[in-house]
Amino acid sequence: MSKKIIIAIDGFSSCGKSTLAKALAAKLEYVFVDTGAMYRAIALYFLRNNISFTNELSIAAGLSKITLHFEYNPSTFKSDIYLNGENVEAEIREMQVSSKVSEVAAIAAVRDFAVAQQQAMGAQKGIVMDGRDIGTVVFPNAELKIFVTAKPEIRANRRFLELKATDPTITMEAVAENLQHRDHIDTTRAHSPLKQASDALVLDNSEIDRATQFEIALNWANERIEKHNR
Ligand code: C5P
Repeated sequence: MSKKIIIAIDGFSSCGKSTLAKALAAKLEYVFVDTGAMYRAIALYFLRNNISFTNELSIAAGLSKITLHFEYNPSTFKSDIYLNGENVEAEIREMQVSSKVSEVAAIAAVRDFAVAQQQAMGAQKGIVMDGRDIGTVVFPNAELKIFVTAKPEIRANRRFLELKATDPTITMEAVAENLQHRDHIDTTRAHSPLKQASDALVLDNSEIDRATQFEIALNWANERIEKHNR
């Protein structure tokens, strides 16, 4: 049997990382993990319970009460995230969480909590994980690292169309502002900031469609799997 690899996909907000990661995982029959969903679920818990983002004691107490797990949803062909047994997949995508998640994800204790679980999920390999620090911190030895980028206006437009489907009041300005805000915090934070791993392959999807992007990434994955099995 072919030995499986780890595929780490990183990049800025809303540049199609999850779509690509999900498609690759389905094709290769690997597990797909959306690490952004984990940070979003933690942020949701903090917001619901009024946990101060600067009080280390309440952060630690809050984290000790959080259990996260993913469960496959056959109607969307992807795994939904559960926070203490509750499916919060829809709620974590709302602006209320999006506007705060990067502040929560910048907290060292939160990162330690999430990264330990991510590393455990990848212990058997055969995983496609997307996030901001997967190739740099979570799996620095991943066999394939992809850094996805797209022009900011293209990312904002894609995200706007996605959110507008469920929230007709959303504006393009609010979406663009949120992306800028998250990118800024993600790239400048002290703990594992978003940056391209030196050995990552860059995939700019500003001018290419999903199918082409998928083909490029799948070729890279097959090359690395072959190399890993030599
Ligand atoms: O991927 P998504 O945009 O859903 O992630 C939400 C937020 O979670 C990001 O803006 C970032 O602040 C944080 N994040 C992170 N590290 C990851 C994944 C997400 O800091 N590995």
